[in-house]
Amino acid sequence: MSTQPGVLYVVATPIGNREDITRRAERILAEVDCIFCEDTRHSGRLLADLGIGTRRVSLHEHNEHARVEMLLEHLRRGESCALISDAGTPLINDPGYVVVRAVRAAGMLVVPVPGASAVVAALSAAGLPTDRFCYEGFLPARGAARRARLEELAQDTRTLVFYESPHRLAEMLADACAVFGGEREACIAREITKVHEQFKHGSLQELERWSREDPNASRGEIVVMVRGAESAASTGIDSERLLRVLAAELPASQAARIAAALTGEPRKRIYERLLARESPGSGADDV
Ligand code: SAM
Repeated sequence: MSTQPGVLYVVATPIGNREDITRRAERILAEVDCIFCEDTRHSGRLLADLGIGTRRVSLHEHNEHARVEMLLEHLRRGESCALISDAGTPLINDPGYVVVRAVRAAGMLVVPVPGASAVVAALSAAGLPTDRFCYEGFLPARGAARRARLEELAQDTRTLVFYESPHRLAEMLADACAVFGGEREACIAREITKVHEQFKHGSLQELERWSREDPNASRGEIVVMVRGAESAASTGIDSERLLRVLAAELPASQAARIAAALTGEPRKRIYERLLARESPGSGADDV
C-alpha cells in the first residue's frame, strides 16, 4: 500500500534507540512529498541515517498556527505530508494538535503511524497497574501550582504518569510525598531505550531520597509513575465515621491529618469538610 494524496500522516519516531522506527514509518517518510518536523536539523540526522531525503519544513510550538495554511495548501494540491516531532509520538507533549485539528476541520484525512512514546514504554515495564492510568504530562514548574495539581490527583485510583525535567525531579518527589504520603509506591523510568536506561522502584519517600543522593538520578529524560490511591472500598474505612470520631477528640487540623493518612483523601479537602460542620466562629486552627 502506498501513501495516498491529500493525506497527513502523523508518524512516531524513536525516543532513544534508533531501531525503534517501524517499517511502515520508514516507508511513509520516504514516500510523502513533505515532512513537517519540530526541528528540521534534529530530524535531518534520523532521516539521513535512514537514507531518506524527503523535503523538510519546520513546524514547532512557535510557528504551528502560521504553518496551518501552508500545510493545508500542500494537501489541497494533492500532496501527501508527514508530521514528526523530535522524539516519540507527535501531539504527546509535542506540537501537532493545531494542525491535526485544522486538517480534520477542512475535511481531509489524518492517518496515525504509531510507534514509540515514553508514556507507554514506561508503563509497559514499570510493574505498576496499567489497566487504568492517567497521563498528566508535565506538572506546573512552580511549587504552589504543582502542589495544587497533585492535590487534585491525590484520590485518583489510576496509576499516575508524569513527564518531568531532571532538574525538578527532587522537588517534584518531595511535593508528591507531602501530598500523596511517602509510603505510596512509585517507579521512575530514566533514559528509556538508551544506554543508561534505568527503572527505579520504591516508595515515594525512598525515591525522593535517591533523587537527592544519586547524581545520576537527575540526568537524562524521566518519566515518573505513581501508583493510584487505594479506593475507599479497598481500605475498608468508613471515612465519615472516622472523621466524626476524630473530630470529637482532636483539633480540626490534627483530625484532618490523621484522616488523610488513613483514607488517602487530600488533607485540605477533609479539613474543609470539618470546617463546614463547625458552627461559624468556632475558630478552627491552621492546617
Ligand atoms: N512525544 C514524546 C512522547 O511521545 O513520549 C514526548 C516529548 S516531551 C517534549 C519530552 C519528555 O518525554 C521528556 O522530558 C521525558 O519526560 C519524556 N521522555 C521522552 N523520551 C524519553 C526517554 N527515552 N526516557 C524517559 N523519558 C522520556
